[in-house]
Amino acid sequence: MAHLKQRTAFGKPLIDQSSLLFRLADMEMDLQTARTMLWRGADALDRGAPDVVALCAIAKRVATDNGFRVANEALQLHGGYGYLSEYGLEKIVRDLRVHQILEGSNEIMQLIVGRTLAEA
Ligand SMILES: Cc1cc2nc3c(=O)[nH]c(=O)nc-3n(C[C@H](O)[C@H](O)[C@H](O)COP(=O)(O)OP(=O)(O)OC[C@H]3O[C@@H](n4cnc5c(N)ncnc54)[C@H](O)[C@@H]3O)c2cc1C
Repeated sequence: MAHLKQRTAFGKPLIDQSSLLFRLADMEMDLQTARTMLWRGADALDRGAPDVVALCAIAKRVATDNGFRVANEALQLHGGYGYLSEYGLEKIVRDLRVHQILEGSNEIMQLIVGRTLAEA
């Protein structure tokens, strides 16, 4: 947000480009969705709910896919600066990418949820 307000291109701050506001809105929706699924998974664990495995698999996939997508979008919105190590964004993008693979890859999360549906 700070960068989009401060950076001017084509005669006005980037924040005034409505297409970029749409991108920011999508990023916010991705983050809110990820947090909601994380809380649902944690709540299912606390309660020992019967659908805990599927909910945690959904939470893991949504949080890691959305988190990566939002960080990657943030880098893009910084233009060339986003790619420079001094800004720290490229490190966040690299660090988040591995979570789509670690602790059970996101394809395995799909497998878990798909099997749950098939067995229901
Ligand atoms: C930085 C880092 C740290 C790690 N730390 C640890 C650690 O501390 N402890 C530990 O035990 N492991 C660790 N790992 C290993 C990690 O858990 C595995 O990399 C991960 O589980 C994926 O397994 P794999 O690499 O063997 O991929 P593979 O099993 O070879 O899978 C390759 C691709 O095929 C997909 N795939 C595989 N099987 C299926 C299927 N049945 N259906 C659909 N798609 C499928 C996968 O999702 C993936 O996209 C680490 C990995 C990294 C990169």
